[in-house]
This record gives sequence, C-alpha cells and structure tokens, in this order.
Amino acid sequence: MVNTPVFRGSTILSNSLTEWESRKLPGNPYASYGRFGTPTTRALETALAELEGGYRSIVFPSGLAACTHSLLALLQPGDHALISDSVYGPTRSFATKVLTRFGIDVEFFDPLAAGEIRRQIRPSTRVVFVESPGSTTFEVQDIPAIAEEAHKVDAFVVMDNTWATPLFFKPFEHGVDISVQAATKYIVGHSDALLGAATANERAWALLQQTAHDFGQTAGPDDLYLALRGLRSLAVRLHRHWENGVLLAESMARHPMVAQVLHPALPGDAGHALWRRDFRGASGLFGVALKPVGREALGVFFDSLELFGIGLSWGGYESLALPVDAPTRAVRPWALEGPLLRIHAGLESCNDLMRDMQSALDRMQRHL
Ligand SMILES: *Cc1c(COP(=O)(O)O)cnc(C)c1O
Repeated sequence: MVNTPVFRGSTILSNSLTEWESRKLPGNPYASYGRFGTPTTRALETALAELEGGYRSIVFPSGLAACTHSLLALLQPGDHALISDSVYGPTRSFATKVLTRFGIDVEFFDPLAAGEIRRQIRPSTRVVFVESPGSTTFEVQDIPAIAEEAHKVDAFVVMDNTWATPLFFKPFEHGVDISVQAATKYIVGHSDALLGAATANERAWALLQQTAHDFGQTAGPDDLYLALRGLRSLAVRLHRHWENGVLLAESMARHPMVAQVLHPALPGDAGHALWRRDFRGASGLFGVALKPVGREALGVFFDSLELFGIGLSWGGYESLALPVDAPTRAVRPWALEGPLLRIHAGLESCNDLMRDMQSALDRMQRHL
C-alpha cells in the first residue's frame, strides 16, 4: 500500500510470553495496547515530528487537548507560567480557570514587547507559552528573543504553531521546546475531523509523553488517517491559501469601511519584519478591524456574503468569515474600536472571493 491503512484495534496479541514481555519494555510503548497507538498513529506522529523538526510527536483528540496537556506536562503547584496576551481564547481560559486551581501562578505578557519579558521572568518560571501570530489579533512574537530569556531560568517554551503549520515556521530552529498543532485546521485540511498533536525536543519529550499517557489521551484511527491524507497536499494547499489570503487582505485594506487589516505578510503590518525574518510563508487566516459600525450594519455585511461561510474553525478548503469578540487583554489594551472579523481565505478563485467581499462591504456602506 502507498498509504498506511487505518488500523482499528484495542487488543494487540502476542505470540509468546517473551514477545509480550518485550512489548512492555521502555522504548516500545506502542505495541502493548491500542491506546498507545497503532501503525496509523505512528505514521502520523513520525511525519509530524520530522516536519516540525522535533524529537517525537504525540497525538491528541483535539488541538485544545494538545495545548492543555503540553502545559500540564510541565507545570507543578508553585510554578509560574507566562502566556502571550494574544493566545487562543480556550487556552487562555484553561490557564486562568484550571491551572490557577492547581496552584500555578499564571501571568500574561505583551506579545509585541519581546525584550520586556525579561522583567516578568522569575526563578519559578517554568513555562512560556507563545502563539505566533496570535489568535484574533495576529500579533507576531519574537520567539528567539523570548526563548533566550526563558532558557536562562530553565523554563520551557511551548508554542501553538497552528497558523504557520510546520511548513511555514520551524519551531525548533527558534528555541521552542514543545510545538503544538491544531491538526483540525490545515493538516486535516478539509473541515471533517478534530485532531491535535504536540511535538517535543528531547528535553521535554519524556514529560510530555508520560502526561499524555497518564491522562489516557489517544486519537481515533479514522481521524489520524484523514490527517495523514491531509499532509500529502499540505504544501500545495498552503501556497494557495497564502496567495488568496494576501490578495484578499490587500483588497479589503483599500475599502473605506475597513479600519485596519491584521496580516503579518502585508508590508504595513506591525509584525511584518519578524514574519519576514522567521517565517517561510503565510497561511490564509487574518483579521480585519472594521470602522465602528453597529450590529445592524454588521448584519447587512454578513448576510450579503455569498461565498464565505459563517462558522468556527478554519484551515479547510472553504472560505470563512466570522465576527470575533473584542480580545480579552491583561497587558496591552486593544486599541481598535470597530468590530473585528476573522477571515479565512480558502482555495476558491481569488477573483470570486474578492468580488464577493467587496460587494458585501459596499452594501454595508450603502446601508449606512
Ligand atoms: C482551533 C485552534 C486550536 C484548537 O484546536 P481544536 O482542534 O479546535 O481543539 C488551538 N489553537 C489555535 C491557534 C486554533 O486556531
């Protein structure tokens, strides 16, 4: 077979007592029980570890589970965790609601002030969690500078690398210790499965793997297969998402109803220099801050869109537009007043997408 098939199974039989005993030896954790994976699991984990440039990967049933278990693997009561102020909302919520319950001191840092993190790092800092560009606001962080400071106190750097995928950002070349993928997005790539993965360097691997096993984390073979299939076309899809996203963002930036486009691949963006230095490409996801308009005008805009779906998640073949809440911020207040949109440029004809977007913005403007 060209592709590793879908292996379904919980029980894995051994032919002898010796074989059974060897399956339980350290270093051979997969072969004793289906929860630790099958050849389908191993095929995806091996591919992801190689693409990310890490030591090993482990899969989770969702991207959020990969984020939360990476944190749980490293933190103990009394530890200090520094988290980017523009982190994915559910990761933020896990940190403030769950980690604090277990006696972990959670603090946020300004995603745009890399050097400043020096003042927030303490001897008890165990984890610095970055996500670049951040959810909703697309702020790019200086990850090598952050990692340098974090490693001075032996803290681990965990990165949510979903936006760039392992193709457009190589986390382990920039000082990251664990890289998380919401594989639900570009890796699966067709909006038909939920899946997460975390890849660690040698330093973090034993802690990550042990915690994932202790919590009983595993993922179903059909979803793993869909992720393996998605990987085959990831590079080709991403280039189209990148191109469509930049063209769409540039055309939206010219519209009078748009206050600001948040896309690090655009030359005017605050994160553009860092993006050029550290990234190898851009995905199709970006933000748009509209001029201040009310709920009714926003309704005219959304209801006029014909080619963009209104829905959560992204990374599939289809274009999406979503109203997002004003960002929750602890450190740097969010300055833009108008409604925020999150746009995912899919694989459709870019001219069609631009025309549809332009006409919805025009209609909102006429309505006003
Ligand atoms: C969607 C997303 C997640 C969570 O992934 P799920 O598979 O939906 O749990 C985590 N981080 C980022 C940046 C995301 O966009």
